[in-house]
Amino acid sequence: MTEHLLLGQTLQFTGDALADWQAATRHHSAGAVLIRDGRIRDVGPAESLRAVHPDATVTDYGDALICAGFVDAHMHYPQTAMIASWGKRLIDWLNTYTFPEEAKFSDPTYADMIAGRTLDLALAHGTTTLTSFCTIHPASVNAWFQAAAARGMAVVGGKTCMDRNAPDNLRDTAQTAYDDSKVLLDRWHGQGRATYAITPRFSPTSTPDQMSALGALWAEHPDCLMQTHLSEQVDEIAWVRDLYPDARDYLDTYEAHGLLGARGLYGHAIHLEPREVDRLAEVGAAVIHCPTSNTFIGSGLFDMMGLARAGLRIGLATDTGGGSSFSMLRVMAATYEIGQLRGTPLHPAQLMWLATEGAARALHMGGQIGHLGAGAMADLCVIDLASTPAIAQRHACADDIWEALFPTIMMGDDRAIRDVWVAGRRVAAG
Ligand SMILES: [Zn+2]
Repeated sequence: MTEHLLLGQTLQFTGDALADWQAATRHHSAGAVLIRDGRIRDVGPAESLRAVHPDATVTDYGDALICAGFVDAHMHYPQTAMIASWGKRLIDWLNTYTFPEEAKFSDPTYADMIAGRTLDLALAHGTTTLTSFCTIHPASVNAWFQAAAARGMAVVGGKTCMDRNAPDNLRDTAQTAYDDSKVLLDRWHGQGRATYAITPRFSPTSTPDQMSALGALWAEHPDCLMQTHLSEQVDEIAWVRDLYPDARDYLDTYEAHGLLGARGLYGHAIHLEPREVDRLAEVGAAVIHCPTSNTFIGSGLFDMMGLARAGLRIGLATDTGGGSSFSMLRVMAATYEIGQLRGTPLHPAQLMWLATEGAARALHMGGQIGHLGAGAMADLCVIDLASTPAIAQRHACADDIWEALFPTIMMGDDRAIRDVWVAGRRVAAG
């Protein structure tokens, strides 16, 4: 039985850092993480863990920071090849860039290539779990879960369903959306580290019939997740109002069709009505903040602290390729910047919590992933806190771990990711 002991600084969370970051954080400047059989078995001071586990294989990361691998709670792997496409707002951006690219996923070979490329890019940025929309093509879902299984990664995914307001070659029907999703769900959900998410893209691209069919499928498989988009742009909300004249608000287009629940993941959620906030909180649903996407597509400023106070689960995400980076460090920086614009800047501990524990809780995987503590899967990220000259010179005069970490949050990228472990296996080295 091989035990690995990783030495470095360690950052743990023992509670909700959005509510009280000081009570929720534990930092060891000379810490250690013990790994056995793919899981974290202990975290504590290096001296005591070395004494108790003298035969463990030691990897010494010096003063690099060992933390849980990042969890990206909303992205679109089929958009990897068209990330950073210039100059459109949501609806035009979908029609001009996204749909032509997603049409290519009728080719399983292309889907395999982009799925593997996306996961390798994510790992290089310290992200060990991703929640992705696939395309309308079942092969895109198979490609996603197969590529993740080959890398030992816990991922979430689902067939994106659209039966209107999309090109002919990207439309299914209410019935085929149900049938295809059910086959994929039966094949993949709970296989290894795979989790299936029933995936209507968003209300404008699904008829009420398709929404009802997917709501029925979720009712039959309530342990699955459900992912979609909610209230991203003002124009989009007006369009939803035209398409669903009887709905009380955008959320009601989901709620009326069985698509509101605790295991629901609602991406963006920027322009919410009070009733929508209350209902999301009542059912325990999660909203996913995608700040690099929100600024890139010009969507608006998410109310992080207001929604946290209302009791919503909140995760962070890249929303690749609406988001303009694969890096959760960049996502944390944008979260900070949007917080500043709203007058509620977040502490570095809160940013790290959201990108790991918060996102994992949104996926109902708290304690299993995104967590540096005994019992969690050993999905880890090792961060070099002085990865570039600009960061290093600021880091050199830091007085505590938060001052030492914040320059990397604001200025760091994949050069800051020194190493990555997935299920107790080292997968990358900088
Ligand atoms: Zn999205």
